Amino acid sequence: MRILVTGGAGYIGSHTLISLLSKEHEICVVDNYVNSSPIALDRVRRLTNHDFEQHDLDIGNGPELSNVFTKFQPEAVIHFAGLKAVGESERDPLLYYHENISGAISLLKAMDACNCRQIVFSSSATVYGEPCYLPYDEKHPLAPINPYGRTKYFIEEIIKDWTKTDNNKKAILLRYFNPVGADNSGEIGEDPDGIPNNLLPFIAQVAVGRLEHLNIFGDDYDTRDGTGIRDYIHVSDLADGHAAAVNYFTKMSGVEIFNLGTGNGISVFEVVEAFKQASGKDIPFHIAPRRNGDLPAYWAESKKANNLLGWSANYTIDDICRDSWHWQSKNQEGYK
Ligand code: NAD
Ligand code: UDP
Repeated sequence: MRILVTGGAGYIGSHTLISLLSKEHEICVVDNYVNSSPIALDRVRRLTNHDFEQHDLDIGNGPELSNVFTKFQPEAVIHFAGLKAVGESERDPLLYYHENISGAISLLKAMDACNCRQIVFSSSATVYGEPCYLPYDEKHPLAPINPYGRTKYFIEEIIKDWTKTDNNKKAILLRYFNPVGADNSGEIGEDPDGIPNNLLPFIAQVAVGRLEHLNIFGDDYDTRDGTGIRDYIHVSDLADGHAAAVNYFTKMSGVEIFNLGTGNGISVFEVVEAFKQASGKDIPFHIAPRRNGDLPAYWAESKKANNLLGWSANYTIDDICRDSWHWQSKNQEGYK
């Protein structure tokens, strides 16, 4: 299939390219590198021995985006491009509403202009908000608790409305849990700008000596060891979920929503221990106050994806830490 990938140079996008190219899909990447490096794309080419188109372009640039669509004539789009830092979205909500929502609208318009009617969208478990029950399934009520999460919720709704304008339009909304780890080559991985906000890249930078110690945000939650619990999914499993999703277009109509997670909750202490084992390094930590807006615990019910997409997560937390360490130790300064 000819697939246009927005944000393909990013963390999840670059891993997804590996999965798509290994299945012989024809790819065109659109990325403005606001949070990524084109080096990731060169490495994907080298790893897969496949070439693809690449455009340095902001998806908000409608005329240029339409030119790319007209030339490439994609049969489907996978839409990763967007801003994703929760804290930044609280400090500058308008930036997030503008970039993420206007970007999505610009993309859907370009799709309409060249009759491209299938989209996979990167949504997030953050759309669920405070758990009414766990694990979250796709029917769980939606109540995102920060502007970033609300952009995901609003874009889901916009895409649903878009599909209603034509019986042949199809959308798959993938709600990711916590994507972590790296391709097992150690050649591509997560490369956050500045001090990482997320647990795994933070631990990896402590292990490699770039940061002194980890702050564990709260050890007094009502969880089995007092620390926060999340569903950490290996990014290569997540990438395969996208390949499974594009295959599913032939079997569906309208909109389908899938959680992509492992179904298992892991605590912060458990992640630290697994990383210590995988890296052979000590991970010094301090117990810090709870982080504003953090939920104590959540994890996925992913049976719908298991049953309909024929997809499931295979990697364990030990595999995740091994691959994350491999990437970080091989690329101490990321792509720089
Ligand atoms: P990322 O920042 O590594 O990748 C996003 C990519 O989009 C980057 O390459 C960036 O340069 C590009 N981009 C951003 N704005 C753009 C624009 N206006 N035009 C063109 N390109 C643009 O993030 P990621 O972790 O790979 O996440 C990909 C998607 O998945 C995002 O939409 C994110 O919100 C979503 N998501 C991520 C997580 C996570 O924890 N990583 C969890 C749930 C959902
Ligand atoms: N966390 C932590 N220290 C950090 C970053 C995260 O203790 O430096 C905890 C956080 O409180 C949560 C878990 O690790 O319980 C996962 O956080 P992350 O930011 O990776 O993902 P989130 O689920 O919040 O999006």
